[in-house]
Amino acid sequence: MATPDLSAAPAPPAVPPLPHYRRTRKRIHLLCFLIFLILPFFDVMRFDLPRQRFHFAGQELLINEFAIIFFTLMFLLFVVVGMSVVYGRIYCGYMCPQMIFSEATLEVENWIRKRVTKRWPKLPAPRRKLLSQAALYLLLAAASIVLAFVFISYFVEPRDLFVRLLHFDLQTAGGISGAVVTLITFLDFAFLRQRFCTTVCPYGYLQGMLVDNQTLLVSYRDEAHECIECQRCVRDCMMGIDIRKSPFQIECVHCGECIDSCAAILARLGKPGLIHYTWGEHGSIVAEESSWWRKLGIRDTKRVVVLLVTLFYLSGLTVALSMRKTVLIQLQPVRAQLYRLGDDGTIYNKFRLKLVNRGSTATQAAFAVQGIPGARLTLETNPIPLAAGETRELEFEIAAAPFPGASDVNHMQVTMQAGTEHEQFDQTFLMPPEGKRR
Ligand code: SF4
Ligand code: SF4
Repeated sequence: MATPDLSAAPAPPAVPPLPHYRRTRKRIHLLCFLIFLILPFFDVMRFDLPRQRFHFAGQELLINEFAIIFFTLMFLLFVVVGMSVVYGRIYCGYMCPQMIFSEATLEVENWIRKRVTKRWPKLPAPRRKLLSQAALYLLLAAASIVLAFVFISYFVEPRDLFVRLLHFDLQTAGGISGAVVTLITFLDFAFLRQRFCTTVCPYGYLQGMLVDNQTLLVSYRDEAHECIECQRCVRDCMMGIDIRKSPFQIECVHCGECIDSCAAILARLGKPGLIHYTWGEHGSIVAEESSWWRKLGIRDTKRVVVLLVTLFYLSGLTVALSMRKTVLIQLQPVRAQLYRLGDDGTIYNKFRLKLVNRGSTATQAAFAVQGIPGARLTLETNPIPLAAGETRELEFEIAAAPFPGASDVNHMQVTMQAGTEHEQFDQTFLMPPEGKRR
């Protein structure tokens, strides 16, 4: 019998490598969870409400440091808006704490159910269910305390919060908010989970307003009618939707699970998946883009503008942070009385001084005056001690005797040294007309 010539058989169609969005997403979830946990403990970002401070990138800012707070908020706003315009709901599926914890809760629930079934296979199903639920709620209660603690640490200093927690403080605003947030967290992850995304969360609705025909979507493309109706994409969708109906469903959080599922099923038949990340409903498939900037979503002028505006606010924030001084000083002359003449002929000019220590440690501000021979400051203490976060307002005088070459208005410099910070203020020292000096 003749052996069939296998080399002449048509080569099977090339199937692209399977996508692994689930694996990528789980790694990003872990990274985001760790970032969420550690940010408030390292003062990277916290609105410290009781102390009216804003911690950002290790800097402790006063709540009235307008420039920095303005640039921070604008930068964050443009990051959120830009993300929505370019990447749709990628934030929801990959980075949102609500999604991360909802999915984790679901996985823990399944794990507990399997463990209980394995351990007590003979128990009636309703009792096994009861046992699983009790174990889950116990675990969730403990997790809710930790999550609420981390969440409130974005608004209250963590050590302060820990002391309140140890004392079961249910009287102060901090303690009450802790208890309320713990309860809400528990109810949310025990009963609401992903339903939160389609009912309560405003971001999904906002995102609906920001999409255009170039925004990243999860789309079903089946021009050749190759769908085998296996329903695997529907079963694996944690939001319970059928992406084949429309890529614009509000429930879709662009997680990509259905992309993995369909690709895995059709790969068995030697075909590529039918669901993809695409730029807009009818635009190109992301994985097939050739240039890196188009892969990243920089596809038209609108996206370039969004990117530039975001970078503008980021630069503004960087400049504002780099120009920030720990000790804030405001120095103004008090001209209600132009000058005061002492019995010995010394001339006095009055000044008003405001000092704010915006740092987290105590410091001292030393003042000196230059440009007027023999001039001195009548400060009670010099250097002036300043505790962390302290604000001081005071009045003092600069005293000087008439000197050769003095005029009615003399220019001088008041200098301040606090640690490594040095500041100089140009001021004027007023004297009586020459004939009235002694
Ligand atoms: S339709 Fe697909 S991308 Fe959208 S939520 Fe469901 S699994 Fe995720
Ligand atoms: S997984 Fe793919 S083949 Fe199966 S129903 Fe969904 S789209 Fe069709």
